[in-house]
Amino acid sequence: MLHRLLRGGCSPLLCIWVLLLPLVSLNQHGHRNHNVRDQSKLLLVSFDGFRWDYIDRVPTPNFRKLIDEGVMVEQVENAYITKTFPNHYSLVTGLYTETHGIVANEMYDPILNRSFSMETDSIYDSRWWEEAVPLWVTIQKAGGRSGAAMWPGSDVKIHGMFPNQYLRYNASMSFETRVEHIIKWFSAPKEEAVDFGVLYWEEPDESGHRLGPQSPQMDVVIFGIDQKLGFLIDELVKAGLYEKVNLIVTSDHGMAQLSPDNIIELDQYVSRDLYTWVDKSPVVGILPNQGKLEEVYGKLVDANPNMAVFKKESIPEHFHYQHNVRIMPIIIEAKEGWTVVQNRSSPFMLGNHGYDNTLRSMQPVFVARGPSFRRNYVKTSMHSVDLYPLMCQILYIRPLPNNGSLLNVIDLLSPDITPSTPSAPPRVTSYSYAPVVGSLLGVVMVLGFLVVYIRQVTLKQLPSLKHRRREMSQPLLQEDLHL
Ligand SMILES: [Zn+2]
Repeated sequence: MLHRLLRGGCSPLLCIWVLLLPLVSLNQHGHRNHNVRDQSKLLLVSFDGFRWDYIDRVPTPNFRKLIDEGVMVEQVENAYITKTFPNHYSLVTGLYTETHGIVANEMYDPILNRSFSMETDSIYDSRWWEEAVPLWVTIQKAGGRSGAAMWPGSDVKIHGMFPNQYLRYNASMSFETRVEHIIKWFSAPKEEAVDFGVLYWEEPDESGHRLGPQSPQMDVVIFGIDQKLGFLIDELVKAGLYEKVNLIVTSDHGMAQLSPDNIIELDQYVSRDLYTWVDKSPVVGILPNQGKLEEVYGKLVDANPNMAVFKKESIPEHFHYQHNVRIMPIIIEAKEGWTVVQNRSSPFMLGNHGYDNTLRSMQPVFVARGPSFRRNYVKTSMHSVDLYPLMCQILYIRPLPNNGSLLNVIDLLSPDITPSTPSAPPRVTSYSYAPVVGSLLGVVMVLGFLVVYIRQVTLKQLPSLKHRRREMSQPLLQEDLHL
């Protein structure tokens, strides 16, 4: 971890703080102490498919209010593939999809010999989700409480737990009713109130698919989402929660415009008898029949210039999309705006997502506001996996190993909650030998790190960007802050 901090260009003081953070934020049992509960409430809201630039397209006074009173990140690179289930699980685990195991909305697991589809009850099989631990489980194990309104995966028993309060998925439940539940859970008597809430809404994704993001009709949809955000803000104000609860509003992905002229028909290139079609466009998972991998790959690889065809081992490392048995031996990635089907009888949509996560059209909005956040602050970029360590910091929870970096996003938080401020609340109520020994070890490590840092700066031997990129491609960075 020290090397990672160094390469991240962190200042020595900031590094010392990060290294000591676990010692000051947890008591000797690894639990949060009750003094901080009231100051660290957090509500994470996802408007599915809300592209980053939608807020500039029509008047969005409620998004603007949150930005004026809080923070905005202009560019959020989400997780590949840019689909709903994979990205919602990345937001609450801080893991790339290959690591948390929800690699697509439609999956096949050759070990379980089971298929997963967001359209069926297969999603309630815990085994799909248990390669990772969502934040609500970690909070509850640390003595906190959580509530979930329809967030993907939140109505599944994961590692033996549901959120303390949750709603079984029901697409017909209105946004307003979901908000009522969230408000009730945060407003409950102190011992029952949730510390962490997640709220999911299906729009503007559904309209984006149906109309295409370039449709003028999307203006009305986007304005409607802003109105829903206004409703949430009003309800938080009415309940006396607006100044107490940190509110993060983001999304899983953006949306690209499609055209009926930009369709690739696989039947033109390879027989259906040779493979199983596992996941849908624009990143199609192909499972060749036994012994047919080379034949299928050979027929597809140069078949159409508007799609890239990868054997699993050749998927570009920056996608972090290789190291899981649920990723198929061949994947086809359509170019932005193109659709891959078997033939034209397949249903067609005017908008879609799932493409390369570095495309701006695939990236989500991100705004946040509350007692932990700075005010009127705009940040250039972050990765969506960085949100997890940020949320753990707000909630005073020790993060599990993850692919994100708190250092990348620490500037979003108000200086008032950093330990460098004398008025920062005490976060340890009791002492044992363990934290004392831990602190001494921490000091030794920090001194060691400073020696290495000074030496490296002196010798101008900091690693190259190329080297850093190679490190970033590892399946799990484990930037846990453990000493
Ligand atoms: Zn969608």
